Amino acid sequence: MPTCPHCAAEHNAADLVRHERPGVTIVHCPDCECVVGAYRRHGDRPKVDRLRDASP
Ligand SMILES: [Zn+2]
Repeated sequence: MPTCPHCAAEHNAADLVRHERPGVTIVHCPDCECVVGAYRRHGDRPKVDRLRDASP
């Protein structure tokens, strides 16, 4: 269970505020909005480029 480094609250992963960025997911504490962690998604490609390539 992730523990917030700012307010030391423990939250279920599902309760954290998630922000999706190209190649990375950033999770914030729902209480103080401190960044709890960032998870790289190596399998992802930049979605803007993929969408542009997919449109003829
Ligand atoms: Zn917090």
